[in-house]
Amino acid sequence: MPRIYIFLFFIFVLGSTLSASEVFCTHCKKKIVGNYLLDSNKNPYCSKVCFSVILPRCTICKKVIDGPYRSLNNKSYCSDKCFATTLPKCKLCQLPGTQFFKIAEESFCPECMKLDKCASCKKPHKALKDNKDGRKFCENCLVFLIFDENKAKELYLK
Ligand SMILES: [Zn+2]
Ligand SMILES: [Zn+2]
Ligand SMILES: [Zn+2]
Ligand SMILES: [Zn+2]
Repeated sequence: MPRIYIFLFFIFVLGSTLSASEVFCTHCKKKIVGNYLLDSNKNPYCSKVCFSVILPRCTICKKVIDGPYRSLNNKSYCSDKCFATTLPKCKLCQLPGTQFFKIAEESFCPECMKLDKCASCKKPHKALKDNKDGRKFCENCLVFLIFDENKAKELYLK
């Protein structure tokens, strides 16, 4: 979508003597008395509120966009902040980004990929626990590991 340039024109209508040229608001259909606004197609609007309905709105925060904006897939965003909410987030640091590594359907950013990875699930983690055998595991995997070990012991005792 190209950037939209809105041209505002303020026009003075001189009282009721000009009844032949009655003007009605394009949006609320009310008769306009006094100043009004015109859009680029010369449609009149009674107020800024009515005029703002033709302005694009941010897909995320629903604010009227009256300046430069970002658009993607026919959707408009008022700011980089709103735009960033649509981007995928890193599973670990929760920061939005455009480049990700996928491990088991979960996305990790290049920064997090520099961290140590769990020996079992291969995902990066901030705090890996050292196992007796020297390998590092994440908390989730360690729970299963201990569970498996206990089960193995149980079977052995039988
Ligand atoms: Zn109106
Ligand atoms: Zn917004
Ligand atoms: Zn990350
Ligand atoms: Zn793991």
